Amino acid sequence: MSGKRVVITGVPGVGKTTVIDASMKRLVEENIPYKAVNFGTCMFETAKSEGFVEDRDQMRTLDKDIQKKLQKLAAQRIGTMEGNIIIDTHASVKTPAGYLPGLPEWVLTELHPNTIVLVETDEDQILLRRMGDESRKRDAEGSRSIAEHQQMNRAFAAAYAMMTGCTVQIVRNENFLLDHAIDAMVAVLR
Ligand code: AMP
Ligand code: MG
Repeated sequence: MSGKRVVITGVPGVGKTTVIDASMKRLVEENIPYKAVNFGTCMFETAKSEGFVEDRDQMRTLDKDIQKKLQKLAAQRIGTMEGNIIIDTHASVKTPAGYLPGLPEWVLTELHPNTIVLVETDEDQILLRRMGDESRKRDAEGSRSIAEHQQMNRAFAAAYAMMTGCTVQIVRNENFLLDHAIDAMVAVLR
């Protein structure tokens, strides 16, 4: 397996996709080839064609066994991709049945990441970002619950590191400091 496989995670609304898109632009300028894959989009393509959902934000409320099946199919597809890859996904998904691991053993063995990045910021910033995002059906959650989710994601990431030997890195995406987040992300990817 050649290439670098970087898994990027963060709670909904932390700005993962924004940081990834901007970092991809910088990598192009530096002539470093990377492909960015959105794990949720891979799952959604199957979920939609099977008639399970119409919206990507409905997937996390599906029966957990269906979510796991979609997850496995997405991991198998992404697992066959070559070269340097960024995988935009979640360390854990908040479902009605509890925190669902985003990278259980059968996903990790397909993806074999070199490193897992946790994109984080303060919970009250995330709360405000979610309230301002009309494009998505973000969960209505209090800041304490968002803080818990970020804590759980660190615990999940540590478990994934134990299983694979991958490293774990934290990139802060603070209000008004997107450039810092991009610098930190590009340093991980370079
Ligand atoms: P996102 O656009 O990153 O918020 O992802 C959309 C949805 O895809 C999430 O709310 C989850 O339902 C699903 N998803 C993304 N990554 C994973 C994963 N690794 N395991 C399970 N579900 C995932
Ligand atoms: Mg996103």
